[in-house]
Amino acid sequence: KDDGKTRVLILMSDTGGGHRASAEALKAGFEELYGSKFHVDVLDIWTHHTPYPFNQMPKTYSFLVKYSFLWRAAFTMSQPRVVHVPCSTASAAVVGRRVSEAFDIYQPDLVVSVHPLMQHVPLRIMRMRIKAGMQPPTKFATVVTDLTTCHNTWFHPGVDRCYVATEASLKQALGLGLRHDQLRLYGLPIRPAFGRSFPAKAKLRKMLGMDLSKPAILLVGGGEGMGPVEATVDGVAKYIGGDCQLVVICGRNAKLVEKLSSKQYPEGMHVLIKGFVTNMPELMSASDVIITKAGPGTISEALICGLPMVLNAFVPCQEEGNIPYVVDNKVGVFEKSPQRAAQIIRSWFGEKRAEFEEMGRRARALGKPHALFDICRDLATLAPHPAGEARVSKPTLAAA
Ligand code: UDP
Repeated sequence: KDDGKTRVLILMSDTGGGHRASAEALKAGFEELYGSKFHVDVLDIWTHHTPYPFNQMPKTYSFLVKYSFLWRAAFTMSQPRVVHVPCSTASAAVVGRRVSEAFDIYQPDLVVSVHPLMQHVPLRIMRMRIKAGMQPPTKFATVVTDLTTCHNTWFHPGVDRCYVATEASLKQALGLGLRHDQLRLYGLPIRPAFGRSFPAKAKLRKMLGMDLSKPAILLVGGGEGMGPVEATVDGVAKYIGGDCQLVVICGRNAKLVEKLSSKQYPEGMHVLIKGFVTNMPELMSASDVIITKAGPGTISEALICGLPMVLNAFVPCQEEGNIPYVVDNKVGVFEKSPQRAAQIIRSWFGEKRAEFEEMGRRARALGKPHALFDICRDLATLAPHPAGEARVSKPTLAAA
C-alpha cells in the first residue's frame, strides 16, 4: 500500500462479455494514461467474495438468458425500488463480511462499479466501514455499461460520479435523483485498441486470411455464442452465397465452431469460423457489415469501426433499448428472421449501396472512440492522490 500508487478497485461480474470487457478496458485505459502511477484490480465480487447462492449469479445469468422469459420476470420483478432496496439490504447483511474482506485486501483509494447490482451493497458496506474507522473515506463511481433501458439499480444518488453512455441514460439518472454534477456523458468504455488507427482494409484482410475483393459480413454471436447463429449462416449462404465472404465468431460456443466448420458452403463463398477471438478491432475494421445481438459493447465497437448493423437478437429488457438506439440513429436495422437479414444485406451490397454507405458514415460519426480515456481522466481527478498528468499515449497499430 505504501508504494505511492493510487489504488483502483473495479467491481464487476462475469455475466456476459460486456461487463468484463468494460472492466478490462478501464484497467488498460489507466495503464496507457498513467503507467505505474495507478494500480488497478478487477474483482468479480459475486464469484470470489460472496457465499452461495450469490456466487452462482454468473451461472444463473447464462441460464436466464437461455430461458429468456425467466430473465424478463427476474428483471421486471426487481425493477421497482420497493423491491430492490429491501432485497439488497438483505443481501448486504449476507455478503457484507466478504465485501468488507475485499476492501481489506485491495485497500482501494477509488472504487469503480461496472455492474448494475454493485452500487447498493458496496456503498453500504463502505459507509459502515468508514464510520467504524476501518478505512479512510473512499470515492465511489459507477460506469454504466448499458446504452439505454438501464436497470434502475445502476443509479445510486450516493455515488461520487456516474458515467453514462447516452442521453437516455442521463435522463434516467436525473429522474432517479442523481444531480448533474455527479453525471458525465462520454460513451461506453471500449478497449483502447478501438481508438487506434488501423492498416488499410486490404492489408488487414491479408493478415486475417480474408478474401480481398468480396464484401465481408461479420457475424457475432455474443461472448457466449448466443443468438440464431447457424440459421443466419444458412440464410447468408442461401441468399448471398458466393457474392460475399462471411466471418463467424462463435464466442465460447465450441460445439458451434465444430458444427459450422463441417458444413458445406456455396461455391465461391469464403467462410471463416472462429471461436472466442481477441482481435475484434481488426476483424471489425476488415469487415463491411455486422450481424449481432444487441449487446452494448459490440454495438459501440461497430459504430467506432463504421459498420452498419443488423441486430438479430437481444437479451430481454436490458438490451431492448439498444434496438431503437441503432434504428433511430439510422445506423442499422433490427431483423430477427435470418432469411430476411440476409436479404437486407444482399440489397445493401446491391441496389441499396448508397444508403448502406451513408449508414456507415453515420455509424462512424456516432462512435465514441475516446470515451474510455475521457472516463479514466475524470476518474483520476476523483482519486485522493491525483496521479499527475496523463502520459500522451502514442497511437500505434494494433497487432493482428
Ligand atoms: N467479444 C470478443 N471476442 C469474441 C466475442 C465477443 O472480444 O469472440 C467481445 C466483444 O467485442 C464485446 C464483448 O465481447 O466487447 C461483448 O459485449 P456485449 O456488450 O456486446 O455483449 P455481452 O456478451 O456482454 O452480452
